Amino acid sequence: MSLSYWVSRALSSLPLLNVAIEQEEKLVPLSVNYFPHRKCNYACDFCFHTSKNLKILPLDDAKRGLRMLADAGMKKLNISGGEPFLQPHFIGEVFKFCKEELKLESCSVVNNGSKVTEKWLDTYGQYLDVMAISCDSFVPETNVRQGRAENGRPGHIQKVFEVTEWCRKRGIKVKINTVVTIHNWEENMVDSIQELTPFRWKVFQVLLLDSENTGKETGSLRDARNLTITSEQFQAFIDRHKGLGDCLVPESNEAMRDSYLNLDEDMRFLNCQDGGKTPGRSLLEVGVQEAMKDAGFDEEQFFGRGGVFDWKRDPDQGSLDW
Ligand code: SF4
Repeated sequence: MSLSYWVSRALSSLPLLNVAIEQEEKLVPLSVNYFPHRKCNYACDFCFHTSKNLKILPLDDAKRGLRMLADAGMKKLNISGGEPFLQPHFIGEVFKFCKEELKLESCSVVNNGSKVTEKWLDTYGQYLDVMAISCDSFVPETNVRQGRAENGRPGHIQKVFEVTEWCRKRGIKVKINTVVTIHNWEENMVDSIQELTPFRWKVFQVLLLDSENTGKETGSLRDARNLTITSEQFQAFIDRHKGLGDCLVPESNEAMRDSYLNLDEDMRFLNCQDGGKTPGRSLLEVGVQEAMKDAGFDEEQFFGRGGVFDWKRDPDQGSLDW
């Protein structure tokens, strides 16, 4: 072959090379957990998103960030906390925007149930697919003992049942989230879960995260080191409840750690790879693709833990009520 052949071959391959670079794989934030603020009226000992500041973005900035995420492929937004319902107008307007403007497939909220009102549901419930309520025990003293209570008062369980009923009437799917600790791993919750009939019962092994719930030494506001359980204890809890079938979705520490895209109050992804929660750069400043590089997100783990599920509300229920 002549030199000119190789030169022309090399030159002709350049455009292809450029295309390959331009097509560098884009990261898709399919499902995002947004923590818009950190304030809460409960004081759970294992909380890993504690009241370290009282920030919340102006609503328009939050909407701008959410639009950027939707443009990058977000289909589901979950709002968590802090207690989201301490900012009822903010979260309601976010859900409305996500459904009406961004056309997201699914909006959900994880909350402790205590601040949900029928008035809010009548105004914003139509934009909500899933209401996830946290309940760790059906023994009132156990909830109080691990801080799942307002000012140490019982009453949490009754509110969980009440909110479940309100949501069911409105076609909003109900999910129950339970954290398994040393205080409740021996409890049998079958009857109460059957009564609530959530479409999903997510059961988490209590997770330690430095700077959040591992004591003063790591700058944490909470200390859950005395609440941890072994993998065997967690498995025993799961085995006791497996008769509940597919609604039971267990999540061990390993499955949890890197399988969520968690976005904090400044719209920074939180990286849990080193056993803490390290914020990256804000997507409002660097864009979604750059911000996602800081997230330590493991997409395989996300799909492996069933991160995509039937997350839309029931279209045949509740729509005639409004
Ligand atoms: S309900 Fe408990 S776990 Fe949830 S944000 Fe409040 S203190 Fe933290």
